[in-house]
Parts: sequence; structure tokens; C-alpha cells
Amino acid sequence: MAMEVESAKCECCELREECTRGYIVGVKAAFGGRWLCGLCSEAVREEGRRKAGSTMEEAIQDHINFCKQDHIAHGLRQMLLRRQRQRRSK
Ligand SMILES: [Zn+2]
Repeated sequence: MAMEVESAKCECCELREECTRGYIVGVKAAFGGRWLCGLCSEAVREEGRRKAGSTMEEAIQDHINFCKQDHIAHGLRQMLLRRQRQRRSK
């Protein structure tokens, strides 16, 4: 029997992964209804272990903020690089 596969999007880094429905449901249950990719869920678990006393929700929020900052920094760098290249090609 073929396993049912769905596309899930990470709430942190927006990575898409093909996962079985059972796996998606399990991850969502662990992270308060959010689906996180393998890397992000590992990071959140690690964060939760490191900061004793913080809730899973706090660890998730921390990681989402971290990912967003990283995204912005990455986007800015890409934009600057593109501009430089355009200038050089003229
Ligand atoms: Zn992710």
C-alpha cells in the first residue's frame, strides 16, 4: 500500500517537504499546531533543552524570529549582490 504523502510548509523557514500524513500530524502535535521542517524542529528541541524553564512555545517563537532575521539578512545580501552585478555589466 502506498503511503499518503502531503506537502508541508515549515512555519520557520518556509521550506517545503513531502511527508506522510502521520508524520505531519505528529510534528504539529509536538509544536502546538505548527509544522516545522526537520532542521527547525531539531533546533527548537535543542533550544528547549538549553533554556531550562522555557516553554516549547517560547522556543518556537525564538526560532521563528531567528529564521526571519536570517531571511532578511540573506535577502538583503542577495539584493546588494544583484545590484553590484547589474552595475558592472553596464
Ligand atoms: Zn524550517
